[in-house]
Amino acid sequence: MGVRENLRSIRDMIPQGVELVAVSKFHPVGALREAYDEGQRIFGESRANELVAKAAELPDDVRWHFIGHLQTNKVKQVIPHVALLHSVDSEKLLRCVDAEAVKLGRRVDVLLQLHVAREETKYGFSPEELLSLVSAELIASLEGVRVVGVMGMASNVDEEARITADFHDIRRVFDVLKESVFADKPYFEVVSMGMSHDWPLAVAEGGNMIRVGTSIFGEREY
Ligand SMILES: *Cc1c(COP(=O)(O)O)cnc(C)c1O
Repeated sequence: MGVRENLRSIRDMIPQGVELVAVSKFHPVGALREAYDEGQRIFGESRANELVAKAAELPDDVRWHFIGHLQTNKVKQVIPHVALLHSVDSEKLLRCVDAEAVKLGRRVDVLLQLHVAREETKYGFSPEELLSLVSAELIASLEGVRVVGVMGMASNVDEEARITADFHDIRRVFDVLKESVFADKPYFEVVSMGMSHDWPLAVAEGGNMIRVGTSIFGEREY
């Protein structure tokens, strides 16, 4: 099946209120254009250079989401193009993005990335780290960045119970923050979790933004 058919069939399955990020990393601009022509406007990329190059080739109404690990030395390059940064995984990066947003005179929306999966290599805050970092003082100190939610990945395993437990943990951290630091912040509403193979489990656990690559564009070539 082609990109357009894939996109249509995923859209038919996604419940209302769940936003679809089409993860287009490593795929050629032609594939993105097919998705664009099918009405897709949110694309997810994980490399700074690639995002900037693709942004130059696609129409201006594309909303680019950055979903990969972002080094602080790439912030300046990426931020002007980004509608949502999913992957804030350190206080240093948060401060750096905030400074850049102030410099550009615009607001930048971000998600805080949680690490709940078994794998050692994934980036992100543990639930405990995140809950101790995020305070009313921290949020008030951000002048250009708006924290609009959390992002996370489940363990890369077949066991559905484990995947569900990981998504449950991500949603739980969101709920704790939503009821405390962000109680009077209606914009704090995004729970980005779920990929091609596990998004139905993520949605069942309360995810409202899914990041789907392979099921739309096919296998990636590295
Ligand atoms: C690549 C990637 C995805 C998409 O994965 P698929 O399995 O191709 O759907 C989602 N989220 C992040 C953070 C990624 O890096």
